[in-house]
Amino acid sequence: MHLKDRDRKLIWHPFTQEKTAESSIAIKRGYGSYLYDTDDKPYLDLISSWWVNLHGHAHPNIVKAIHRQSMTLEHVIFAGFTHEPAVQLCEKLQPLLPGFSKFFFSDNGSTAVEVALKMAYQYWRNQGVLKRTIFLSFDGGYHGDTFGAMSVGVKSGFHTLFSDLFFPVLTIPFPATWDGDEAIESKEAYALEVLASHLSSSGDSIVALVLEPLIQGANGMKMCRPAFVKQVVHLVQNYGILVIFDEVMTGFGRTGTYFCFEQINIIPDFVCLAKGLTGGFLPLALTITTESVYNAFWDEPLNKSFAHGHSYTANPLGCAAAIASLDLLIQPSTMQSIQAIHHTHTKEILNLPAKHRRTTGTIAAFDVDNPQAFKKKCFEQGLLIRPLGNAVYLLPPYSTTVPELEEAYKKIKNIIFDIQLKKT
Ligand code: PMP
Repeated sequence: MHLKDRDRKLIWHPFTQEKTAESSIAIKRGYGSYLYDTDDKPYLDLISSWWVNLHGHAHPNIVKAIHRQSMTLEHVIFAGFTHEPAVQLCEKLQPLLPGFSKFFFSDNGSTAVEVALKMAYQYWRNQGVLKRTIFLSFDGGYHGDTFGAMSVGVKSGFHTLFSDLFFPVLTIPFPATWDGDEAIESKEAYALEVLASHLSSSGDSIVALVLEPLIQGANGMKMCRPAFVKQVVHLVQNYGILVIFDEVMTGFGRTGTYFCFEQINIIPDFVCLAKGLTGGFLPLALTITTESVYNAFWDEPLNKSFAHGHSYTANPLGCAAAIASLDLLIQPSTMQSIQAIHHTHTKEILNLPAKHRRTTGTIAAFDVDNPQAFKKKCFEQGLLIRPLGNAVYLLPPYSTTVPELEEAYKKIKNIIFDIQLKKT
């Protein structure tokens, strides 16, 4: 039986309506910027396999690091024990995260956010502040699928069914923008007005603001301006509200700086990292915070400690992969060439029937009328893309070469053109 059919018999896939979905594409191996199906057909991975892969598939440095680590120590309980890869990883990350000094491990993006939400809530309680019970987030923001993450993602459109079970959250409109957007000033002004009204009615009751800085990923790679985020952060900080940057998708250079907060030029109270942390090899996440947050937990009673942990917390193999991935990240200048190609080619796409061109760092997006037809053609031509609503985006691993990306854009332009021709 073909792998696809064996899959269909047993496996329930994420974010998939199993009744109507086509069979999954069966992937046999990955190498560099390509994935290969069971017939050895190559697919250029333009979405970094759900935004996780940084340096290409099966990168030998990460493979070797995991192999080496697995022969020494594959796992140890992280309560009451520590190990070299966990400490080394945090030592390597800290210089990239000035202002941050405490690293809490978990397993994925949702748990990284969940940990930040719980820490923020407990931060106030540990200091005897009981009135702060509400969270603040953006319309359209997506932060994961656990209950806390879903609560702050209440307006993402993904979790509506569960909304009766969510904790209280106030939301702010997200001023999504693109090249040539003439309405951006008024969109930002409106968002700030809504925020000001929340702050004047409930500012003293808000625990924390959580946001995807610069880009709302799952909401269709919607981008906003750094100066807007800076203004928002300043406003909420005036009310003592904590700030959580969910950099699960944006971390590790996707927006042109290692982390978004660098270009926004502010220090939030928490940064959540996952996805690219291990270069796409193993599930691992970090919630990184400041000495000031940590100090609110530094006490004798056990109930003031942060009583949260997962079986695989700081798994040594994950940490070894992350160290190897970080070593690769520090050297290359490939990010800039990806950025330049996005810039040039998405400009040309605008002459075709595609709209709302937007780029930030190594991410480019635009909207098309018929995303499903577009996706089908891309698959036929060996391009792995996954539109979000009408948004088509390219978020390639940094291993993608200039010719590979140029070729992909050539195909994409032809596909948009062909689909349009068929319509007229
Ligand atoms: N936050 C953001 C910004 C994300 O994009 C995602 C995943 N798409 C998550 C959190 C949740 O991460 P995970 O799927 O690893 O739980």
